[in-house]
Amino acid sequence: MYAVQQLIDGVWGAGPDADDLLVLDPADNAEVTRLPEATEAQVAAAVKASRVAAGGWASTPAAARGAALHRVADLLESSAEQLAEAQTAEMGRPIGLARGGVEAGVGTLRQYAELGPVHRGRALSGSPEAIDLMAVQPRGVVAALTPWNDPVAVCCGLLGAALVTGNTVIFKPSERSPVSGWLLARLFAAHLPPGVLSLLTGGARVGAMLAAAEVDVVAHVGSTATGRSIAAACVATGAKPLLENGGSDPLVVDDGVDPVWAAEQAALGAFTNSGQLCVAVERIYVLRAVADEFLSALVRRAESLRVGPGRDERTEIGPLVDRRHRLLVDTQVRAAVADGARVLTGGRVPDGPGAFYPPTVLADCSDEMSVMREETFGPVAPVLVVDSFDEALSRAAHSPYGLSATVLTGSMGHAQQAWRELPVGTVKINNVFGGAPGGAAHPRRGSGQGFGYGPELLDELTATKVVHITAPGGPTGTW
Ligand code: NAD
Repeated sequence: MYAVQQLIDGVWGAGPDADDLLVLDPADNAEVTRLPEATEAQVAAAVKASRVAAGGWASTPAAARGAALHRVADLLESSAEQLAEAQTAEMGRPIGLARGGVEAGVGTLRQYAELGPVHRGRALSGSPEAIDLMAVQPRGVVAALTPWNDPVAVCCGLLGAALVTGNTVIFKPSERSPVSGWLLARLFAAHLPPGVLSLLTGGARVGAMLAAAEVDVVAHVGSTATGRSIAAACVATGAKPLLENGGSDPLVVDDGVDPVWAAEQAALGAFTNSGQLCVAVERIYVLRAVADEFLSALVRRAESLRVGPGRDERTEIGPLVDRRHRLLVDTQVRAAVADGARVLTGGRVPDGPGAFYPPTVLADCSDEMSVMREETFGPVAPVLVVDSFDEALSRAAHSPYGLSATVLTGSMGHAQQAWRELPVGTVKINNVFGGAPGGAAHPRRGSGQGFGYGPELLDELTATKVVHITAPGGPTGTW
């Protein structure tokens, strides 16, 4: 059992002890933590403390802010196992994957620790006697509302970028992964002045209060529906929304590729983290010539994956985050079957404790099914056979989301056509995951607004000011 506490104005345990929310281990239903849901007064106190601390933190030299982030990264490195175990306990991910999330978080913190101090404006060329420049300044108070599916890596990026650019942060981690959020906040707070980081716990109600509060940025990584309500709240307050939201990423399998290799890529994309990744493969378009072999290999791969508790080092597929989420996944699968999809493997809620769901392959899917159109966020690979590469691209492009897409092809012409035509932020050719560090894209449509990653995130979290200075008395004036 973890004893999660809030942090307001440099004081841990702010507010009365409460156990409004309960988190269960999705592998065995054991109690992981009980936590308070922040009250309206606590939200107001956190906003006030952040505002008070903002001036001092903004005027702290950027190099000192970067050095603080490096110290947080050191602490995270030495607490890696604790953070990994917490993720596995509260959201079920296999322990190796959880360690990878911590490692990614450390790397991101170190990148922002280095990039922050060299993030700058520029000098302009005006009249020779004038000084003209563009300066970047912190935006002020950032509310960071984060999800549960990769809680350490995502939060390190957002918090690191916001803090190193001189903003104060009110951090509200997901109510499904509060322990990771709390442990992480303790590491940050150890190297920050009081009030620079606050931690509030709770669910949608607390998030909505923060989104409607007098903050300067609401940075939300989470579902599209939540992102839309946050954007609406920001219209009323004038805060800037920064939204990294859901996806329904397509995978296109061209003819001519090795169908067994393509199936391995598909399984990796659809089943890693039990499909609970924003860039998980959510729908597959396969060319008829390779479809039969591809489907057989995908079923073989799905059935070979070892499903079990995340804390077992041999586990490849852990449970879903909780039973509420499992019901959503299963409901989409059942609806697809009712509309004519064929279950080739999986597709059935198993007996026993926890929130397990088997890797599932569905054939004969159609565009209208919610498994193809919406984000399923579960280990489900729905497949639709197509007759041409053009048809595959056109169906892949037809989506309310626009996060990323993968194309498996041996044709450079098709690769070029795909990256130019697909209306998404990221296109990957012949590799479902991967890419160079520092990549940042604009998500399209329901997938969000603004750069959520890379050096460009520093631009999002700062405001640029144009400055023009001349001496008093006109062009010949002196100081
Ligand atoms: P979510 O939107 O339900 O929750 C995210 C955060 O928002 C939580 O802290 C939550 O308490 C808060 N929240 C919920 N309702 C709110 C409201 N009405 N107002 C303000 N805040 C509110 O998302 P989730 O279920 O935690 O996360 C899964 C989603 O996150 C998936 O859709 C996934 O694709 C997305 N995601 C996107 C990225 C990306 O980079 N694009 C990365 C990771 C996850």
